[in-house]
Amino acid sequence: MVERIDVGILGATGVVGQHFVSLLAEHPWFRLTWIAASDRSAGRRYAEIPWRIVPPRPTFADDLVISRVEPDAAPSLVFSALDAAVAGEAETAFARAGRLVISNARNHRMDPLVPLLIPEVNPDHLKLLSQQRHAYEWDGGIITNPNCSTVFLTMALAALRPFRPQRVLVTTLQALSGAGYPGVPALDAVGNVIPFIAGEEQKMETEPLKLLGTLTEDGIENAGIIISAQATRVPVADGHTVAMSVLLGQDAAVQEIRAAFESWTGVPQQLGLPTAPARPLVYVDADDRPQPKLDVMRDGGMAVTIGRLRRCPLFTCKFVVLGHNTIRGAAGAALLNAELAHATGALKRDVVQRKQSKLSV
Ligand code: NAP
Repeated sequence: MVERIDVGILGATGVVGQHFVSLLAEHPWFRLTWIAASDRSAGRRYAEIPWRIVPPRPTFADDLVISRVEPDAAPSLVFSALDAAVAGEAETAFARAGRLVISNARNHRMDPLVPLLIPEVNPDHLKLLSQQRHAYEWDGGIITNPNCSTVFLTMALAALRPFRPQRVLVTTLQALSGAGYPGVPALDAVGNVIPFIAGEEQKMETEPLKLLGTLTEDGIENAGIIISAQATRVPVADGHTVAMSVLLGQDAAVQEIRAAFESWTGVPQQLGLPTAPARPLVYVDADDRPQPKLDVMRDGGMAVTIGRLRRCPLFTCKFVVLGHNTIRGAAGAALLNAELAHATGALKRDVVQRKQSKLSV
Protein backbone atom coordinates (compact mmCIF):
# COMPACT_ATOMS: atom_id res chain seq x y z
CA MET A 1 0.00 0.00 0.00
CA VAL A 2 1.26 3.51 -0.90
CA GLU A 3 2.30 5.64 2.09
CA ARG A 4 -0.30 8.34 2.69
CA ILE A 5 0.63 12.02 3.09
CA ASP A 6 0.02 13.63 6.48
CA VAL A 7 -2.39 16.56 6.29
CA GLY A 8 -3.91 19.07 8.70
CA ILE A 9 -7.03 21.23 8.85
CA LEU A 10 -7.18 24.86 9.95
CA GLY A 11 -10.70 25.60 11.19
CA ALA A 12 -11.52 21.91 11.69
CA THR A 13 -14.42 22.69 14.04
CA GLY A 14 -16.56 24.72 11.58
CA VAL A 15 -19.05 23.53 8.97
CA VAL A 16 -16.47 23.31 6.18
CA GLY A 17 -13.85 21.91 8.57
CA GLN A 18 -16.21 19.06 9.52
CA HIS A 19 -16.77 18.26 5.85
CA PHE A 20 -12.97 18.03 5.48
CA VAL A 21 -12.83 15.54 8.35
CA SER A 22 -15.67 13.54 6.79
CA LEU A 23 -14.07 13.50 3.32
CA LEU A 24 -10.63 12.58 4.69
CA ALA A 25 -11.92 9.63 6.73
CA GLU A 26 -11.06 7.07 4.10
CA HIS A 27 -8.94 9.06 1.71
CA PRO A 28 -6.47 6.90 -0.22
CA TRP A 29 -3.71 9.55 -0.48
CA PHE A 30 -4.08 11.79 2.60
CA ARG A 31 -4.09 10.99 6.32
CA LEU A 32 -5.43 13.54 8.80
CA THR A 33 -2.94 13.92 11.65
CA TRP A 34 -3.35 17.49 12.89
CA ILE A 35 -6.27 19.89 13.42
CA ALA A 36 -6.48 23.49 14.58
CA ALA A 37 -9.13 26.06 15.43
CA SER A 38 -9.56 29.17 17.59
CA ASP A 39 -8.35 29.50 21.17
CA ARG A 40 -11.94 28.68 22.22
CA SER A 41 -11.44 25.13 20.91
CA ALA A 42 -7.69 24.61 21.34
CA GLY A 43 -6.76 21.83 23.80
CA ARG A 44 -10.05 19.94 23.40
CA ARG A 45 -10.35 16.47 21.85
CA TYR A 46 -12.13 16.55 18.50
CA ALA A 47 -14.80 14.20 19.89
CA GLU A 48 -15.87 17.00 22.27
CA ILE A 49 -16.84 19.31 19.37
CA PRO A 50 -20.57 19.10 18.45
CA TRP A 51 -21.08 17.60 14.98
CA ARG A 52 -23.11 19.91 12.70
CA ILE A 53 -23.26 18.32 9.24
CA VAL A 54 -25.37 15.60 7.56
CA PRO A 55 -22.66 12.98 6.80
CA PRO A 56 -22.13 10.98 10.00
CA ARG A 57 -19.22 11.85 12.29
CA PRO A 58 -16.29 9.53 11.59
CA THR A 59 -14.57 8.26 14.72
CA PHE A 60 -10.99 8.23 13.40
CA ALA A 61 -10.40 11.87 14.41
CA ASP A 62 -11.95 11.62 17.90
CA ASP A 63 -8.63 11.58 19.76
CA LEU A 64 -6.90 14.34 17.82
CA VAL A 65 -6.34 17.30 20.13
CA ILE A 66 -7.16 20.69 18.63
CA SER A 67 -4.10 22.93 18.25
CA ARG A 68 -3.80 26.68 18.05
CA VAL A 69 -3.48 28.11 14.51
CA GLU A 70 0.33 28.08 14.55
CA PRO A 71 2.48 26.29 11.97
CA ASP A 72 5.19 24.75 14.20
CA ALA A 73 3.69 21.27 14.57
CA ALA A 74 1.58 21.31 11.40
CA PRO A 75 2.21 18.87 8.54
CA SER A 76 3.42 20.07 5.11
CA LEU A 77 -0.06 20.13 3.61
CA VAL A 78 -2.91 21.94 5.37
CA PHE A 79 -6.48 22.59 4.31
CA SER A 80 -7.89 25.90 5.51
CA ALA A 81 -11.53 26.35 6.54
CA LEU A 82 -10.76 29.39 8.67
CA ASP A 83 -13.10 32.30 9.09
CA ALA A 84 -12.08 35.02 6.62
CA ALA A 85 -11.46 37.41 9.51
CA VAL A 86 -8.33 35.43 10.42
CA ALA A 87 -7.56 33.38 7.30
CA GLY A 88 -5.52 36.02 5.46
CA GLU A 89 -2.70 36.45 7.96
CA ALA A 90 -2.79 32.87 9.23
CA GLU A 91 -2.49 31.33 5.76
CA THR A 92 0.39 33.66 4.88
CA ALA A 93 2.19 32.63 8.09
CA PHE A 94 1.78 28.95 7.20
CA ALA A 95 3.01 29.48 3.62
CA ARG A 96 6.01 31.40 4.94
CA ALA A 97 6.71 28.55 7.34
CA GLY A 98 6.91 26.08 4.44
CA ARG A 99 3.37 24.68 4.45
CA LEU A 100 1.25 24.32 1.34
CA VAL A 101 -2.15 25.78 2.25
CA ILE A 102 -5.21 24.70 0.25
CA SER A 103 -7.72 27.37 1.23
CA ASN A 104 -11.46 27.96 1.10
CA ALA A 105 -11.29 31.49 2.38
CA ARG A 106 -11.70 34.54 0.17
CA ASN A 107 -8.62 36.42 1.37
CA HIS A 108 -5.98 35.32 -1.19
CA ARG A 109 -8.24 34.33 -4.10
CA MET A 110 -7.69 37.39 -6.25
CA ASP A 111 -3.93 37.69 -5.59
CA PRO A 112 -2.50 37.51 -9.13
CA LEU A 113 0.11 34.97 -7.97
CA VAL A 114 -2.30 32.65 -6.16
CA PRO A 115 -3.95 29.89 -8.21
CA LEU A 116 -7.74 30.12 -7.96
CA LEU A 117 -8.72 26.67 -9.14
CA ILE A 118 -11.53 24.44 -10.27
CA PRO A 119 -9.58 21.42 -11.49
CA GLU A 120 -11.96 20.70 -14.41
CA VAL A 121 -11.85 24.36 -15.52
CA ASN A 122 -8.31 25.73 -15.22
CA PRO A 123 -5.83 23.08 -14.00
CA ASP A 124 -3.00 24.88 -15.85
CA HIS A 125 -3.28 27.84 -13.42
CA LEU A 126 -1.58 25.64 -10.83
CA LYS A 127 1.66 26.66 -12.55
CA LEU A 128 1.35 30.03 -10.77
CA LEU A 129 2.49 28.27 -7.60
CA SER A 130 6.18 28.31 -8.55
CA GLN A 131 6.03 32.04 -9.48
CA GLN A 132 4.27 32.71 -6.17
CA ARG A 133 6.96 30.96 -4.15
CA HIS A 134 9.69 32.76 -6.02
CA ALA A 135 8.11 36.22 -5.76
CA TYR A 136 7.12 35.94 -2.08
CA GLU A 137 10.16 33.87 -1.08
CA TRP A 138 7.90 31.27 0.53
CA ASP A 139 8.94 27.67 1.01
CA GLY A 140 5.28 26.76 1.13
CA GLY A 141 2.43 28.33 -0.84
CA ILE A 142 -1.28 29.02 -1.14
CA ILE A 143 -3.83 27.52 -3.53
CA THR A 144 -7.47 28.62 -3.30
CA ASN A 145 -10.89 27.47 -4.44
CA PRO A 146 -13.59 29.95 -5.41
CA ASN A 147 -16.64 31.20 -3.60
CA CYS A 148 -19.26 28.41 -3.50
CA SER A 149 -21.82 29.88 -5.94
CA THR A 150 -18.95 30.87 -8.22
CA VAL A 151 -17.93 27.20 -8.50
CA PHE A 152 -21.31 26.18 -9.94
CA LEU A 153 -21.70 29.25 -12.15
CA THR A 154 -18.20 28.84 -13.57
CA MET A 155 -18.49 25.11 -14.23
CA ALA A 156 -21.58 25.80 -16.37
CA LEU A 157 -19.80 28.61 -18.23
CA ALA A 158 -16.71 26.46 -18.79
CA ALA A 159 -18.85 23.81 -20.49
CA LEU A 160 -20.20 26.57 -22.75
CA ARG A 161 -16.73 27.81 -23.77
CA PRO A 162 -17.08 26.40 -27.34
CA PHE A 163 -19.98 28.90 -27.81
CA ARG A 164 -18.06 31.85 -26.29
CA PRO A 165 -20.17 33.14 -23.36
CA GLN A 166 -20.28 36.95 -23.39
CA ARG A 167 -22.78 38.13 -20.79
CA VAL A 168 -24.37 36.42 -17.82
CA LEU A 169 -27.30 37.35 -15.63
CA VAL A 170 -27.30 35.21 -12.50
CA THR A 171 -29.54 35.00 -9.43
CA THR A 172 -28.71 32.66 -6.55
CA LEU A 173 -30.87 31.07 -3.86
CA GLN A 174 -28.28 30.15 -1.28
CA ALA A 175 -28.52 27.67 1.58
CA LEU A 176 -28.18 28.55 5.25
CA SER A 177 -25.08 26.37 5.69
CA GLY A 178 -23.29 28.80 3.39
CA ALA A 179 -23.10 31.18 6.34
CA GLY A 180 -21.26 28.70 8.57
CA TYR A 181 -22.41 27.82 12.10
CA PRO A 182 -24.54 29.19 13.76
CA GLY A 183 -25.02 31.40 10.70
CA VAL A 184 -28.29 33.23 10.03
CA PRO A 185 -30.59 33.57 13.11
CA ALA A 186 -33.62 31.23 12.86
CA LEU A 187 -36.13 34.11 13.13
CA ASP A 188 -34.55 35.81 10.12
CA ALA A 189 -34.36 32.62 8.07
CA VAL A 190 -37.57 30.62 8.56
CA GLY A 191 -40.29 31.35 5.97
CA ASN A 192 -38.19 34.12 4.52
CA VAL A 193 -35.89 35.21 1.70
CA ILE A 194 -33.07 37.62 2.47
CA PRO A 195 -32.05 39.54 -0.67
CA PHE A 196 -28.48 40.29 0.43
CA ILE A 197 -25.33 38.33 1.28
CA ALA A 198 -22.35 40.55 2.02
CA GLY A 199 -19.65 40.43 -0.65
CA GLU A 200 -21.27 37.54 -2.56
CA GLU A 201 -22.32 39.36 -5.72
CA GLN A 202 -18.91 40.93 -6.17
CA LYS A 203 -17.24 37.51 -5.88
CA MET A 204 -19.57 36.03 -8.51
CA GLU A 205 -18.89 38.96 -10.85
CA THR A 206 -15.09 38.82 -10.56
CA GLU A 207 -13.82 35.33 -9.62
CA PRO A 208 -15.14 33.61 -12.81
CA LEU A 209 -13.13 36.05 -14.93
CA LYS A 210 -9.90 34.86 -13.30
CA LEU A 211 -10.98 31.19 -13.41
CA LEU A 212 -11.88 31.35 -17.11
CA GLY A 213 -8.86 33.55 -17.86
CA THR A 214 -5.76 32.56 -19.81
CA LEU A 215 -2.41 31.87 -18.17
CA THR A 216 0.27 33.94 -19.92
CA GLU A 217 3.91 34.70 -19.12
CA ASP A 218 2.67 37.83 -17.32
CA GLY A 219 0.08 35.98 -15.23
CA ILE A 220 -3.64 35.48 -15.75
CA GLU A 221 -5.38 37.46 -18.46
CA ASN A 222 -9.00 37.69 -17.33
CA ALA A 223 -11.83 36.38 -19.52
CA GLY A 224 -13.83 39.15 -21.21
CA ILE A 225 -17.22 38.12 -19.85
CA ILE A 226 -19.62 40.53 -18.13
CA ILE A 227 -21.53 39.05 -15.21
CA SER A 228 -24.39 40.66 -13.29
CA ALA A 229 -25.23 38.80 -10.06
CA GLN A 230 -27.92 38.94 -7.37
CA ALA A 231 -27.58 36.75 -4.28
CA THR A 232 -30.35 35.71 -1.90
CA ARG A 233 -30.38 33.56 1.24
CA VAL A 234 -33.24 31.04 1.43
CA PRO A 235 -34.36 28.59 4.14
CA VAL A 236 -32.63 25.53 2.63
CA ALA A 237 -30.08 23.58 4.68
CA ASP A 238 -27.57 22.60 1.97
CA GLY A 239 -27.35 23.43 -1.73
CA HIS A 240 -27.09 26.68 -3.65
CA THR A 241 -29.46 27.07 -6.60
CA VAL A 242 -28.16 29.32 -9.37
CA ALA A 243 -30.52 30.61 -12.10
CA MET A 244 -28.57 31.79 -15.14
CA SER A 245 -29.24 33.52 -18.47
CA VAL A 246 -26.27 33.51 -20.84
CA LEU A 247 -25.56 35.42 -24.04
CA LEU A 248 -23.37 33.31 -26.30
CA GLY A 249 -21.02 34.79 -28.93
CA GLN A 250 -21.88 31.88 -31.19
CA ASP A 251 -25.52 30.86 -31.34
CA ALA A 252 -26.32 27.23 -30.57
CA ALA A 253 -29.42 25.07 -30.52
CA VAL A 254 -30.74 23.99 -27.12
CA GLN A 255 -29.78 20.37 -27.92
CA GLU A 256 -26.19 21.43 -28.67
CA ILE A 257 -25.95 23.33 -25.39
CA ARG A 258 -27.32 20.38 -23.48
CA ALA A 259 -24.82 18.08 -25.20
CA ALA A 260 -22.02 20.47 -24.18
CA PHE A 261 -23.08 20.19 -20.52
CA GLU A 262 -23.44 16.42 -20.66
CA SER A 263 -20.15 15.71 -22.40
CA TRP A 264 -18.03 18.13 -20.34
CA THR A 265 -15.23 16.56 -18.33
CA GLY A 266 -11.70 17.57 -17.41
CA VAL A 267 -8.32 16.61 -16.03
CA PRO A 268 -9.72 15.18 -12.73
CA GLN A 269 -11.77 12.65 -14.68
CA GLN A 270 -8.86 11.83 -17.02
CA LEU A 271 -6.53 11.31 -14.06
CA GLY A 272 -9.16 9.47 -12.02
CA LEU A 273 -8.62 11.70 -8.96
CA PRO A 274 -10.21 10.05 -5.90
CA THR A 275 -12.72 12.86 -5.20
CA ALA A 276 -13.60 13.57 -8.87
CA PRO A 277 -17.20 12.79 -9.87
CA ALA A 278 -17.62 10.67 -13.00
CA ARG A 279 -19.56 13.55 -14.58
CA PRO A 280 -18.95 17.05 -13.20
CA LEU A 281 -22.25 18.32 -14.68
CA VAL A 282 -25.34 16.11 -14.76
CA TYR A 283 -28.36 17.23 -16.76
CA VAL A 284 -31.81 16.24 -15.43
CA ASP A 285 -34.85 16.26 -17.71
CA ALA A 286 -37.76 16.83 -15.32
CA ASP A 287 -39.37 20.30 -15.40
CA ASP A 288 -39.16 20.63 -11.62
CA ARG A 289 -35.46 19.78 -11.15
CA PRO A 290 -32.84 20.40 -9.89
CA GLN A 291 -34.03 20.59 -6.27
CA PRO A 292 -31.74 20.77 -3.21
CA LYS A 293 -33.63 17.93 -1.47
CA LEU A 294 -33.37 15.56 -4.41
CA ASP A 295 -30.16 16.49 -6.17
CA VAL A 296 -27.67 18.04 -3.76
CA MET A 297 -25.87 14.81 -2.83
CA ARG A 298 -25.33 13.67 -6.42
CA ASP A 299 -22.05 11.74 -6.61
CA GLY A 300 -21.26 12.41 -2.97
CA GLY A 301 -22.02 16.12 -3.36
CA MET A 302 -19.26 16.57 -5.99
CA ALA A 303 -21.44 16.58 -9.13
CA VAL A 304 -23.36 19.71 -10.10
CA THR A 305 -26.91 19.26 -11.43
CA ILE A 306 -28.35 21.31 -14.31
CA GLY A 307 -31.91 21.49 -15.58
CA ARG A 308 -34.59 23.68 -17.18
CA LEU A 309 -32.45 24.57 -20.20
CA ARG A 310 -34.44 26.70 -22.66
CA ARG A 311 -34.17 29.70 -24.98
CA CYS A 312 -33.97 33.11 -23.31
CA PRO A 313 -35.90 36.03 -24.86
CA LEU A 314 -33.18 38.46 -23.68
CA PHE A 315 -29.99 36.40 -24.07
CA THR A 316 -29.30 33.06 -25.82
CA CYS A 317 -30.31 30.49 -23.20
CA LYS A 318 -31.32 30.11 -19.58
CA PHE A 319 -31.08 27.22 -17.12
CA VAL A 320 -30.86 26.31 -13.42
CA VAL A 321 -27.75 24.93 -11.71
CA LEU A 322 -27.49 23.34 -8.26
CA GLY A 323 -24.42 22.39 -6.23
CA HIS A 324 -23.54 21.36 -2.69
CA ASN A 325 -22.09 24.52 -1.19
CA THR A 326 -20.00 22.93 1.53
CA ILE A 327 -18.82 19.92 -0.52
CA ARG A 328 -18.34 20.86 -4.21
CA GLY A 329 -18.39 24.53 -3.19
CA ALA A 330 -15.87 24.21 -0.33
CA ALA A 331 -14.23 21.15 1.31
CA GLY A 332 -14.60 18.83 -1.70
CA ALA A 333 -13.34 21.59 -3.99
CA ALA A 334 -10.21 22.05 -1.89
CA LEU A 335 -9.63 18.32 -1.65
CA LEU A 336 -9.84 18.04 -5.44
CA ASN A 337 -7.31 20.89 -5.71
CA ALA A 338 -4.92 19.00 -3.41
CA GLU A 339 -5.40 15.81 -5.41
CA LEU A 340 -4.65 17.70 -8.62
CA ALA A 341 -1.52 19.19 -7.04
CA HIS A 342 -0.40 15.76 -5.88
CA ALA A 343 -1.14 14.03 -9.18
CA THR A 344 0.71 16.69 -11.18
CA GLY A 345 3.78 16.79 -8.95
CA ALA A 346 3.21 20.18 -7.27
CA LEU A 347 3.05 18.56 -3.81
CA LYS A 348 6.17 16.52 -4.21
CA ARG A 349 8.53 19.38 -3.54
CA ASP A 350 6.88 20.32 -0.24
CA VAL A 351 6.67 16.82 1.08
CA VAL A 352 10.22 15.91 0.07
CA GLN A 353 11.57 19.16 1.50
CA ARG A 354 9.84 18.71 4.86
CA LYS A 355 11.01 15.13 5.16
CA GLN A 356 14.59 16.21 4.47
CA SER A 357 14.45 19.06 6.96
CA LYS A 358 13.10 16.67 9.61
CA LEU A 359 16.07 14.37 8.95
CA SER A 360 18.56 17.21 9.25
CA VAL A 361 17.26 18.46 12.64
P1 NAP B 1 -17.64 28.40 10.43
O1 NAP B 1 -18.58 27.25 10.57
O2 NAP B 1 -17.99 29.69 11.08
O3 NAP B 1 -16.18 27.91 10.94
C1 NAP B 1 -15.13 28.85 11.09
C2 NAP B 1 -13.87 28.15 11.60
O4 NAP B 1 -12.87 29.17 11.81
C3 NAP B 1 -14.03 27.41 12.94
O5 NAP B 1 -13.23 26.26 12.94
C4 NAP B 1 -13.50 28.43 13.95
O6 NAP B 1 -12.98 27.83 15.13
C5 NAP B 1 -12.38 29.08 13.16
N1 NAP B 1 -12.09 30.41 13.71
C6 NAP B 1 -12.96 31.44 13.88
N2 NAP B 1 -12.31 32.50 14.45
C7 NAP B 1 -11.04 32.10 14.63
C8 NAP B 1 -9.89 32.74 15.19
N3 NAP B 1 -9.93 33.99 15.68
N4 NAP B 1 -8.71 32.05 15.23
C9 NAP B 1 -8.65 30.78 14.76
N5 NAP B 1 -9.71 30.12 14.21
C10 NAP B 1 -10.89 30.79 14.15
O7 NAP B 1 -17.42 28.77 8.88
P2 NAP B 1 -17.48 27.82 7.57
O8 NAP B 1 -18.80 27.94 6.92
O9 NAP B 1 -16.97 26.48 7.93
O10 NAP B 1 -16.47 28.57 6.59
C11 NAP B 1 -15.06 28.44 6.73
C12 NAP B 1 -14.38 29.22 5.61
O11 NAP B 1 -14.78 28.65 4.34
C13 NAP B 1 -14.78 30.70 5.56
O12 NAP B 1 -13.67 31.46 5.16
C14 NAP B 1 -15.88 30.71 4.50
O13 NAP B 1 -16.03 31.97 3.90
C15 NAP B 1 -15.37 29.66 3.52
N6 NAP B 1 -16.41 29.02 2.71
C16 NAP B 1 -17.55 28.57 3.29
C17 NAP B 1 -18.51 27.96 2.48
C18 NAP B 1 -19.83 27.47 3.04
O14 NAP B 1 -20.71 27.10 2.22
N7 NAP B 1 -20.03 27.42 4.34
C19 NAP B 1 -18.29 27.79 1.12
C20 NAP B 1 -17.08 28.23 0.57
C21 NAP B 1 -16.17 28.85 1.38
P3 NAP B 1 -13.85 27.75 16.51
O15 NAP B 1 -14.88 26.68 16.28
O16 NAP B 1 -12.83 27.37 17.52
O17 NAP B 1 -14.46 29.10 16.72
